[in-house]
Amino acid sequence: MSAPTWSLVLHGGSGVIDRADLTPEQDEAYRGVLAQAAQAGAAVLRGGGVALDAVEAAIHVLEDDPLFNAGRGAVFTAEGCVELDAAIMDGATLEAGAVAGVTHVKNPITAARRVMEASPHVLLIGRGADAFAQGQGLESVPTGYFFVERRWRALEKQLTREGKPIPARPAGADTDERQAALAHDEGKRGTVGVVARDSHGHVAAGTSTGGVTAKSWGRVGDSPLIGAGTYASDKSCAVSGTGDGEYFIRLSVARAIAALVELKGLSLQAAVDEVIQTDLEALGGKGGVIAVTPDGQMAWSFNTSGMYRARIADGVELEVAIYKDEA
Ligand code: ASP
Repeated sequence: MSAPTWSLVLHGGSGVIDRADLTPEQDEAYRGVLAQAAQAGAAVLRGGGVALDAVEAAIHVLEDDPLFNAGRGAVFTAEGCVELDAAIMDGATLEAGAVAGVTHVKNPITAARRVMEASPHVLLIGRGADAFAQGQGLESVPTGYFFVERRWRALEKQLTREGKPIPARPAGADTDERQAALAHDEGKRGTVGVVARDSHGHVAAGTSTGGVTAKSWGRVGDSPLIGAGTYASDKSCAVSGTGDGEYFIRLSVARAIAALVELKGLSLQAAVDEVIQTDLEALGGKGGVIAVTPDGQMAWSFNTSGMYRARIADGVELEVAIYKDEA
């Protein structure tokens, strides 16, 4: 069979996600949004669009949905704020853009793309990054937009566990009991990421996250760091990661996978398994990755009990999975 002309793989975070933990309603809600995001990306690719646009379109769906830890629905810092990180990379040109610690831009992945396309830089942080996004005309939202009740409860739980004070609830926060009930607490983390290969043979990767519940002191994880949580090169593959960011940074996870494909000639599945199941596991880190190659290989690997994920390709039906025992 010849390679599909386009393909897309996405994740909505890895973590403690056991079959017994999710109600049928929760399971269905997560799968529904994963499918919607994959179809949004696939629509771009099917129409002959470029991988970067597919990545951005699919991530918008996940950022805008409160179930996932990115954009609306992001986890809270110890101070009760939301600080968002995102990165995007174009495998055709090796151009990349990223933002870290942004608090107002509605879609951090688009801010990252603007950094790549409209600035001479790769990574902008904090107030400067928000100001840049605003200057670019990107939609800016009040912090209350990001507030999701169950994330607040997760913060209270985590701070209580750590014996730390609980900050005042943000002004304008509204209590959405339905959302709080639907969402599953998969641990302190979560992230969303998309990798795509377009019909022109180019790959791209993007990752967006709120980071880790109760993070402090300007903590930045792997997601916005090129080579750690996000990487793309037409010479090897596109990769997006999710998991213990500090371990992903120390192992340069995304770039390590690309190097195994490019320099050692490993298949994509062998490369992602080597870095996640062997290297990350040996160091004591938990998480997972998704990846695609310019020749149409798709892969995922994770060493947690679950990872929200989906894949679709030209002529290949959409597959949505959550637990380890699924394909
Ligand atoms: N990797 C993310 C971070 O460390 C969190 C996650 O993917 O669960 O910020």
